[in-house]
Amino acid sequence: MSTNNFLPFSKPCIDESTIAAVGETLRSGWITNGPKVLEFEKQLSAYFGGRPVRTFNSGTCTMEIALRIAGIGAGDEVITTPISWVATANVILEVGATPVFADVDPVTRNIDLDKLEAAITPRTKAIIPVYLAGKPVDMDKLYAIAARHKLRVIEDAAQAIGSTWQGKPIGSFGDFVSFSFQANKNITTAEGGCLVLNNAAEAALAEKYRLQGVTRSGWDGIEVDVLGGKYNMTDIAATIGLGQFAQLNTITAQRRKLAKHYFATLGKDFEKQTGAQLPPAELANTNWHLFQIVLPERITRADFMARMKEQNIGIGYHYAAIHLFKLYRALGFKEGMFPIAERIGRQIVSLPMFATMTEVDVEHVCAAMKDVLAG
Ligand SMILES: *Cc1c(COP(=O)(O)O)cnc(C)c1O
Repeated sequence: MSTNNFLPFSKPCIDESTIAAVGETLRSGWITNGPKVLEFEKQLSAYFGGRPVRTFNSGTCTMEIALRIAGIGAGDEVITTPISWVATANVILEVGATPVFADVDPVTRNIDLDKLEAAITPRTKAIIPVYLAGKPVDMDKLYAIAARHKLRVIEDAAQAIGSTWQGKPIGSFGDFVSFSFQANKNITTAEGGCLVLNNAAEAALAEKYRLQGVTRSGWDGIEVDVLGGKYNMTDIAATIGLGQFAQLNTITAQRRKLAKHYFATLGKDFEKQTGAQLPPAELANTNWHLFQIVLPERITRADFMARMKEQNIGIGYHYAAIHLFKLYRALGFKEGMFPIAERIGRQIVSLPMFATMTEVDVEHVCAAMKDVLAG
């Protein structure tokens, strides 16, 4: 691309046939949840090995609903990572439970499973691991810990559609698995999400929590026995989702190719020369939702972002350490509690990464970054 064009850090890639299909849905006379939602859920379920799947209007509410289905509320502790979008911890507060954090692994930037296990108390009821940038944690170890301590798992796989563990798609095994289809995710419905569940009883509860707690029977039977919200996906969104889902393998393959090109272009001495830290170079399991580096302390993230912007390159920022937000400080969290997360939260940046980017774009980003980090 020419340096006159701005390269964003992320961009949805929606093909013409999807755009045409949305037009058809709009003309069909049925635009909210209907046949397209059912078809999208059916295709997702097939991909996740036949497990029940329900769609929602955000990834955030899928996690809140999973916590409700698991019966988690006041007095219960839920352990998660401080390096995630704040939604991951907010849903714990939303159901009245107590968030507990465990520090992250400096290499993967995901929750450190040993520290997670050390944070378990008799009040711990669930854990919410996050797969930052789409990279799963050690799934065998995660589920061994959950089994040992009888904990529910709500996987925040918001970024991990298309990622795998030992050849199996994330979501095709485990306990609750939550995905987001927000606009920056690998596949999108503009806003939306889905939850993979364990059985028909959980799926029925998910449907109730999704729409005001309502159960219908016969022509006119209606009953409300739990408090639900308004979280359903529209057929317009599901039409986008169906078009995107058909592209999932292509999108994942292109992102893997771009990640590989980042490593090759930056070269094996990049970390030594600049003091920046690359992500783990594991290419097969990860969907490369993000390509993130941790900057050396000698440059501030704001400076780095501004100088890359001067070269027409957009840089993302995922994420600030959650426990240092005012809302969480008011609960007693403070600086020094999770030092690795705090350093990463200060210095992490996301380089441009989206499926319609080219290898030339990658080279342009690498050259600009080497220039900025040189002084
Ligand atoms: C995007 C994201 C969410 C929230 O998903 P929404 O669809 O925006 O509600 C939660 N956790 C992580 C890690 C995310 O990346």
